[in-house]
Amino acid sequence: MAESEIVLRGGRVIDPESGFDAVADVAIGAGRVTQIGADLPAAPVEVDAAGLVVTAGFVDLHSHVNDLAGLRLQALDGVTTAMELEAGASPVAAAYRAVAAEGRPINYGFAASWAQARMTEVAGFSPGGTLAQVLGRLGHPAWQRPATPEQLTALLSRLASDLADGALGIGLLLGYAPAVDPAEYVRVAELAAQAGVPTFTHARDLIEMVPDAVIDGAEEIVRVAGQTGAHMHYCHVNSTSQRRIDRVLGLVARAQAAGARISTEAYPYGSGMTAIGAAFLAPERLAERGLVASSLTYAPTGERVASEARLRELRQADPGGLAIIELLNEDDPADQALLMRSLTFPGAVVASDAMPLTWSGPADPLAWPPGPTAMTHPRTAGTFGRAMRLLTRGDQPLGLAQALSRCSLEPARLLEERVPAMRRKGRLRAGADGDLLVFDPVTLTDRATYSDSTRPSAGIRHVLVNGVFVVRDGSIVPDARPGRPVRAEPR
Ligand SMILES: [Zn+2]
Repeated sequence: MAESEIVLRGGRVIDPESGFDAVADVAIGAGRVTQIGADLPAAPVEVDAAGLVVTAGFVDLHSHVNDLAGLRLQALDGVTTAMELEAGASPVAAAYRAVAAEGRPINYGFAASWAQARMTEVAGFSPGGTLAQVLGRLGHPAWQRPATPEQLTALLSRLASDLADGALGIGLLLGYAPAVDPAEYVRVAELAAQAGVPTFTHARDLIEMVPDAVIDGAEEIVRVAGQTGAHMHYCHVNSTSQRRIDRVLGLVARAQAAGARISTEAYPYGSGMTAIGAAFLAPERLAERGLVASSLTYAPTGERVASEARLRELRQADPGGLAIIELLNEDDPADQALLMRSLTFPGAVVASDAMPLTWSGPADPLAWPPGPTAMTHPRTAGTFGRAMRLLTRGDQPLGLAQALSRCSLEPARLLEERVPAMRRKGRLRAGADGDLLVFDPVTLTDRATYSDSTRPSAGIRHVLVNGVFVVRDGSIVPDARPGRPVRAEPR
């Protein structure tokens, strides 16, 4: 057994997997949990955890954050592993190399990116590129065109090589290319099924919103799960389903009961955030979602988009600029109840859809705390604090272990079949990774708002990643970069 370097002493230790929930000491050494028990021997670093909960760090399956300030906000929300699985990255090997070179405070991982592979094979754009470039191209019609049989073959082989390089699954921004042939989606799911990894889909439009859609976005995911046997993960059910959440979840529940492998995630906010150039934000299409131009707030200036003319202007000038979009009204109890149902759906995991920060002046990702010119969606900084608050203090509160499970254990399980590292995350037992969270259960809450979006959550006292403090006594440890890559071992 490794020598203990740190002991977290006398906290309420909760392991969502075994149900262990008792006051105990937790010893950490060589990046792992070495021992849990009473009166463990002294270690060089002793931390008093009395009155606090000690548990596994949160595993975020849906984070687009790639800047240091944003990653720190996520760490202060309890996240120890943040993965880019919906947009993904392709070529994935280059993405892992780039992140390893810069270092991260928390663990990271990528799915293969169907959109980026398509941008290369169908639109002819150069491969790779940053998230900002992908966002800038998202509304471009060239990558949304039908693929020729040769292009489809090349696209699939690009994704297959990403899987061979350890991609955690295949991410599909399908809703951003809504006219793509449904048969292509089936082929991609077949590839994922062969490799034994999940797909992560931003669904197409629902038929209630776009009656002439090529296929209903929810039906499609469910059918492909049945048809291919692939594990289909339904990203942010809350935002793509809006007021059809019950219809979508009902469909998913029936398919699950029939044996289809479908998992779901949600974040507890009524607004979304994406590139203002996205096809579904075209002025003539806003009505499909019950939106008007002023439902959008353009992040780089913080302005509410005043008119359709202004929206056209912004889409033209800065298609990759991020905008917050009011989809559900968080002040309306009926909408709030819908959000809660997406969060408490059986098996649903909490996932943030966290976004990179946008600066109204020069970008300053190294500044900490982020200055007043930085903005993001509050979900970046607050998803897990808010979800824990809503799940444990709502009308029908879950127990702490059950709520924690949706933030740590369940997302780890969802990936663990082909990702050995995930079998050691989301749990707190000897041998588990030293990704730990120590929080005050009384004060844990989100504090980020739409107008003050980079306020860190409250109540998070210590966060360790691979046995190294990234948050200590509630503050960021400036130079800590213990994050490691998480990769799949495809068959
Ligand atoms: Zn999405």
